[in-house]
Amino acid sequence: MKSIVVTERGKFNVMELPKPVPGVGEVLVKIKYAALCYRDLLQLRGYYPRMKYPVVLGHEAVGIVEESNDARFKPGDRVVPILHSVDGACDMCLRGEEAYCRSRLSFGEEIDGFFTEYARVTGNSLVKVPDWVSDELAVLTPCVLAMIHKGLRRIGLSIGETVLVTGAGGGVGVHAIQLAKAMGARVIAVTSHEEKAEVLGRFADSVIVGSRFSEEVKRSISDGVDVVIETVGTPTIGESLRSLRIGGRMLLVGNVNPDESYQLRLGYVILKDITIVSNIAANRSDVVSVFNMARLSRLEPIVAAKYPLQDFGRALNTLQSGSRIGKILLAP
Ligand SMILES: [Zn+2]
Ligand SMILES: [Zn+2]
Repeated sequence: MKSIVVTERGKFNVMELPKPVPGVGEVLVKIKYAALCYRDLLQLRGYYPRMKYPVVLGHEAVGIVEESNDARFKPGDRVVPILHSVDGACDMCLRGEEAYCRSRLSFGEEIDGFFTEYARVTGNSLVKVPDWVSDELAVLTPCVLAMIHKGLRRIGLSIGETVLVTGAGGGVGVHAIQLAKAMGARVIAVTSHEEKAEVLGRFADSVIVGSRFSEEVKRSISDGVDVVIETVGTPTIGESLRSLRIGGRMLLVGNVNPDESYQLRLGYVILKDITIVSNIAANRSDVVSVFNMARLSRLEPIVAAKYPLQDFGRALNTLQSGSRIGKILLAP
């Protein structure tokens, strides 16, 4: 089966691998779609110290169960994996905090991922996809919508609050807008791409174009916003902090320039009573919550492009160019 394999830091190959055999408690999943994520790019470049080589890249997927050694799943079930392979038995898993599993292994990093035709996944890491959720929405739920859901849950978003989303035209941003809206917020989208403003206006209550957005935020809301979802990182975090009201909260989920650092002025953060919550991965319960929300609210999966699996290199170029709105999908 065709697979995208990272062979060493910065290098990948399209390789033929044998179809995996599921072990005890594992499920064999035929991948329908996998999605590209900025994390893939950083894993490929070697920013993750626990990366093992060779490894099949990819951690976002939707597929169909072909074989199951877990009584909870049967052939034909449509499933999505969370970001990690988890044991389902440690104290964190028993609390429902699989993202913090004591023995978690990251797909596409420490254990083979989903840029392939078939994957073996522990049943502890899978969630069944209900009928009302499309493949395109399902594939981007765990790492995008459910991840944001967990963050906004931890930050205690209340109905009627104002949320500012930076990097709003990115794969995370455009879906973060929709999720915050579905959770009852008023949303301001910030993008540096003028050409993306019109589409973003379909989802957000208002759109600001440009890098000096805090002044414009303060013109319409003099106190500042209640919450910022920061999907960019170092280039925008200063303006994001300035956009928050006193007692505001920041959800930090993106860091597109990991080589650059940002000097946090502690006095500024303390005097403004700002809460910063970072967030990386969702629990299975967040995936279920988003699927349930999709039944009541419109959550539209925005797909920038679809490529066949072997065109991974082209897909990666599209991701890096940042010129398109939404997520990039790979189809084996
Ligand atoms: Zn991801
Ligand atoms: Zn665990």
